[in-house]
Parts: sequence; structure tokens; C-alpha cells
Amino acid sequence: MDQTKYIFVTGGVTSSLGKGIIAASLAKLLQARGYRTTIQKFDPYINVDPGTLNPYEHGECYVTDDGAETDLDLGHYERFLNVPTSQANNVTTGRVYLSVIEKERRGEFLGKTVQVVPHITNEIKERMQLLGNSGNYDIVITEIGGTVGDIESLPYIESVRQLVWDLGESNSIVVHLTLVPYLAAAGELKTKPTQHSVKTLMESGIKADILVCRTEHELSDELRQKMASFCNVTRDSVIQSIDASTIYEVPNLMQEEGLDVVALKKLELPLKNTPDLKNWNVFLHRLKNPKHVVNIGLIGKYVELQDSYKSILEAFIHAGAANETKVNVVSVHSEYIDTHNVAEKFKDLDGVLVAPGFGERGIEGKIEAVRYAREHDIPFFGICLGMQMAVIEYSRNVLGLKDSNSTEMNEGTANPVIDLMEEQKTITDKGGTMRLGAWKCDIKDNTLARRIYGSAQIQERHRHRYEYNGEYAESLEKAGLRSSGTNPDTGLVEIVELPEHPFFIGVQYHPEYKSTVANPHPLFVSFVEATVKAKQK
Ligand code: GLN
Repeated sequence: MDQTKYIFVTGGVTSSLGKGIIAASLAKLLQARGYRTTIQKFDPYINVDPGTLNPYEHGECYVTDDGAETDLDLGHYERFLNVPTSQANNVTTGRVYLSVIEKERRGEFLGKTVQVVPHITNEIKERMQLLGNSGNYDIVITEIGGTVGDIESLPYIESVRQLVWDLGESNSIVVHLTLVPYLAAAGELKTKPTQHSVKTLMESGIKADILVCRTEHELSDELRQKMASFCNVTRDSVIQSIDASTIYEVPNLMQEEGLDVVALKKLELPLKNTPDLKNWNVFLHRLKNPKHVVNIGLIGKYVELQDSYKSILEAFIHAGAANETKVNVVSVHSEYIDTHNVAEKFKDLDGVLVAPGFGERGIEGKIEAVRYAREHDIPFFGICLGMQMAVIEYSRNVLGLKDSNSTEMNEGTANPVIDLMEEQKTITDKGGTMRLGAWKCDIKDNTLARRIYGSAQIQERHRHRYEYNGEYAESLEKAGLRSSGTNPDTGLVEIVELPEHPFFIGVQYHPEYKSTVANPHPLFVSFVEATVKAKQK
């Protein structure tokens, strides 16, 4: 295909309708028909990236191979499509302005007044076409964050308007996601909010081509007809998106509704084959028909907000299906775990995962969680900060270095078993300065990690400033905590494990970012398998 086609996804009525899932589902169907498809997200906030945001603000910060800190929707894109995303797949208003202002300082607009239109909109349009111009994709889906009518989304909406015009007839479409609320008192579904949000879009010069209507109840033919005529779309362009029991069913629901067919028709592209969802459906079947159930404790301090640990929760869904096991993730707030209540809190758990995190709050509870899992042979999995806590716990309670700590929590600790990485010591800026993205790790023979990965070298994604302090490696190793994976260039310890324990592993990286439906992450798969075994005992 010489002309890349563009699909823009906007949202109306309210936020949190699941634009990311709809975009990912449509992409999945187009991919399954043989189109090279990618998805990108444009976010309206002024942070240059979400790396500096607390998870309570927007949920988890996702990390790509090339080290971009991104919106969590990119995680959905990768999990659905099984294709890695990159820096170019997530753009924020902050990044757009930063680059325009840098150009202004360099004199690239010399003599001109720099304005939202055309300078900001040109920058946005250029970035919207970056992946399309690479020649790697037939179809690029662009999700616009926020809700139409928001002040901060306006430059994006205007850019879409211009781009639709620039690209010309049938080279782009706009899919508008709306809510059709059910009013219990009236016993009715209401279409007015949809009409209004389509109108708002129209005021900005954009005509919605397809409406995806989020609803709790089936939309009748009459209602679909009404929305079609009042919103100026064809009858087959009113797509129902009813609440699903799992997000992984949404591609199937969208297929039943014909979303991919109408999109391709409007883009004047051939339908090719019917979508090949064979493997996807095998996964769905396993997900819905589990043979075992396990309870896994997720020990973290952002547990009030499910989105904070999105990729971990999804990785458990993939790994659960692979094991034909329903994984109940039990959130345990690390701030409230102590020596006296840990046994009670953990009594129904078949496994313990200590989550990533930053700062001092809740770390003593995490250390206590590691101790309990270690001493009671409960399968243990530590990720990033969770791995660091495992090192501290072992050092305190087995080596006997009672004051062991990370210098992140106590700068003056006498035993800094976790310490700031050398290259971090001169960095003062907080944005985008951690050790980020994919780095290599060599795995030693005859280790749990080697058995799990089945390979001597891996690449995993990172997001941290602190590391296992090599000065303690020898004594900890002698005491039984094995360093089974290290970075080949720097020697940085990436994996620790306890050979004497049924399943105890901590990793400095974030395996959850690489788990997809097509490729459930081996660490999660083995961990779930270990919890099933532990439960059977
Ligand atoms: N706070 C720790 C560090 O910076 C761990 C980071 C994380 O868990 N992602 O090293």
C-alpha cells in the first residue's frame, strides 16, 4: 500500500469510556485481516511525559523498549497487537510545546509570531504522520486523549480537522466514542449526550464517520436508526460497545458489530480475509474456563487505584490463562503490614508479589512481606523495588546487618545494600532521567531464571535509579541469595533468587511490560504455576 490510511479516535460525553481498548480492538481486527497497523496516543497534559506523575494521577507509567515513559494505553496496544511501541507512539502537549519552543529559540521561525495555529498544529500534524511516513504501516490509529469540548484538547482537534482535509477523501476517518447512558428511573437509554458530543465535534469542523456507543444495555434498531440520522452517519456506522466481562472480549464484540468492516469500507480498503482470531480465541477460552484458582497477594502502596499496577494485573491474566488458572489478585496495602498481622493478612495467599515503587512510604511492610514469604516457603516474586526489598530483607535477617537499607530510603545507612547507580549521581533533573528501556541481562546456568527463560541472554525493560550494591554481592551470595542474572556490560545485578526455596525470585526490571496475549511473560507463567503447586500441597 503506498498511501497510509489514518483512523482518528475521539471521545465524547465523559472520560474513562475505554478509548484505548476500542482503539486496540479495532487495530487487532485490522491486523488479523492482514493490515500492518499501529496505534498512537496524543495526550493533552503539559507534562512532557507521564514519568513525573504519581500513579494516583493517571495510573501506571508504561515503558517502551526504546525507553519512553508513556501512557498506560500503550500497554494495551502492545498486549493486543504483540508489536512493540516506541517513543513516537505517545505524544503530550508538553512535548509538542517543548519542541516548538526549542525551534523558536534556535531561530527556526525567525521573524514570525509563533502561534497555536499554525505552529503548534503543524508540530502535532507532523507527529501524527511520523509513524505513517515510516512506511512500516498500512493503517495508523491515533487516539486523542481527553473528551471533545475540553479546552486543552482543542489544538489536537483542530489538527485532526486539518489533517483530514490534507489527506483527502477516503484516506482518513474519525471514530467517535460516546456514552449512551441508561436512566433507571425512566427505564430508557438516552441518545442526547451522543447527539451533543457529535455536535461539539462538528462545531470544530470534524464530522464523525463512525460512532462507537458505550452502553450497559443492548441498543435497539430504532435507537441505532435515531442516532444515525441525528448524528449524520450511515446506519452501519452506529456500533454498540456493550460492557464486557473482560477487555479481551472487546475485539470479538467489535467484530460482531462490524466495526472493522465499516472502517475499511470508508477507507476504501479491501476486506481481505476474515480476521484470523484463532489464537486469540484459544486464549479467551482458557481465560473463561479455568481449572484451578489461586490467590496472589499484590503488595504495594498504590493499591487503592487498580490502574497503578495495570501491566502486572494484565500479565497475571495472560499467565493465568496459560496455566488454565483463575488468578485472584488480592491487593494488600504495604503501609499496613507488620510483624504482628502479616500471618493473618497472608493466610489465604498462595503467592506473594512485591510491587515496584518509589520512596519510603510502605517499605517496611514490603520487607516484612518478603520475610514471611521466604520463611514460609510461599512463592515469591519481587519486581524492581520488590527485588530491592528482597535484597534488604535477606541482608537484615539472614546476614544479620540489621540496619541494611536502600539509600533511597535512608541516605546515611551504614549498610547501603541498595545504592544509587553511579551514572545517576550527577543527575538532578527528574524527567526521563532514570535507567529506562530495554537492557541486556546474562543468565547463569543452573538457575531458576535460566529454567524459566530457557535462554542465556534476555532483554527486559527498566525504570529505576537504584541498584543492588555489588560490594555486598559476595557475602549475600555465600549466605544463599544467588545473583542469577547480570548486565553483561556493567555487572549490575538484574536477578536474585533463593535456590533452597520452592520459588523465590526478584528482578530489577519490569517483566510485566512485555507480557502480551500472544506471549505471556515466562516469569509470570512460572510464578502462577508455582502458586498452583503450592496450593495443591
Ligand atoms: N525506587 C526504586 C529505584 O528507583 C525502584 C523503582 C521501581 O520500582 N520502578 O531504583
